[in-house]
Amino acid sequence: MKDKADVVIIGAGINGCALAYELSKRGKDVVVIDKKHIAAGATGRCGAGVRQQWSTRENALLAKKSVEIFERLNDELDADIDFRQGGYLIAIHNEEDMMQAKKNVEMQRSIGLPVRIIDRDEIKEIVPILDPDGMEAIGATFCPTDGHADPFKTAYAYANAAMKLGATFYRFTEAKKFKIEDGKIKSVITSKGEIKTGVVVNAAGAWSSKIAKMAGLEIPNKPVRKEAMVTEPIKRIFDAMVISFRHGIYFSQMSHGQILGGIPSPEEKIGYYTEPTFSFLQRMAYMLGRYAPALKQINIMRQWTGFYDVTPDALPILGFDARLKGFVHCHGFSGHGFMIAPMVARLLAQLITGEKLDLPIDRLSVDRFKGKVVKEKSVVG
Ligand SMILES: Cc1cc2nc3c(=O)[nH]c(=O)nc-3n(C[C@H](O)[C@H](O)[C@H](O)COP(=O)(O)OP(=O)(O)OC[C@H]3O[C@@H](n4cnc5c(N)ncnc54)[C@H](O)[C@@H]3O)c2cc1C
Repeated sequence: MKDKADVVIIGAGINGCALAYELSKRGKDVVVIDKKHIAAGATGRCGAGVRQQWSTRENALLAKKSVEIFERLNDELDADIDFRQGGYLIAIHNEEDMMQAKKNVEMQRSIGLPVRIIDRDEIKEIVPILDPDGMEAIGATFCPTDGHADPFKTAYAYANAAMKLGATFYRFTEAKKFKIEDGKIKSVITSKGEIKTGVVVNAAGAWSSKIAKMAGLEIPNKPVRKEAMVTEPIKRIFDAMVISFRHGIYFSQMSHGQILGGIPSPEEKIGYYTEPTFSFLQRMAYMLGRYAPALKQINIMRQWTGFYDVTPDALPILGFDARLKGFVHCHGFSGHGFMIAPMVARLLAQLITGEKLDLPIDRLSVDRFKGKVVKEKSVVG
């Protein structure tokens, strides 16, 4: 094992892998450690939807800039991440939703997103199997440049590109302790040995509060079990991701014809619970049948669980921690850490190497929780 590095990243999910690439590209000597393997956490369990339709400008901008990167990522990483832009169709159920949708669309269009409000007829034109009555929808918002990528292929593409540039990945290597002197990070003690470094990045997803605690820092993140399922493949019918913040459902059709989706389980709770629940399947099957009656007879092939790393405002925590020199936060992504990872990685690499940042991230610092926070409204579950 290497005994020193410029930067040690804890966690080889999409965020750790993307950051390793962006830092290696800038000439940094990077080590990534994971207690399991690449994409073992939320990344390998996610819906991998890529949505730019957010209620806060911070999330909308991070997602928009990430889409610009996703669009060129195959060339940049010399890989195929299976990025498809079929759009996101977000149901509007009543006048209250409509008012919020109008506010969101105005902000989203002001930053250049091609979002629009559509009526019930257009819902059926975009996704013919949808039943606006069953959805209880009076309309929807639609952004055609939203989409989906393969989370395994994307994480591996970033990791492989980082390794080609000199980064080292250690699998089955757990961060156990930090050596701290005079308020500065000095080294990470892992299950396989010690790595001296001046910069540690906490990209440990749902385990980020444990890593912070090891460094003597409190953060407000909570792990929440989420469930997802995939059906048997059927002929290709639609390209968009369908989603409702009110019902909590999201689903889309994968490249090979399966329907992949999720909905909050009635038994959802905070903590490291990994067991799948039958009540999730019941709720998912019921709601999917209401949204798309043609799917009522489809067979579910597999269900699984993963964790959201949830913050009080559903926004990520990014940047250096003023309480401990060299400690960088890269977590708290709640339910959308895949879609914004490309831009988050670029910004954190710029921050760590002292470059000018393409977007300010001060409002995403850990210090914001000292005051009143504004919660992101466009979230499922
Ligand atoms: C069911 C589900 C659906 C989702 N759908 C979407 C979606 O459609 N779009 C979207 O953008 N996001 C979605 N998300 C959220 C998304 O998956 C996460 O926000 C994102 O993957 C987080 O990536 P990460 O790299 O920050 O963390 P993770 O992928 O969780 O990686 C963290 C890594 O840290 C490692 N680790 C933890 N502790 C240690 C330690 N002590 N030492 C070493 N390694 C350690 C873990 O093994 C893990 O591999 C979904 C999540 C779930 C669960």
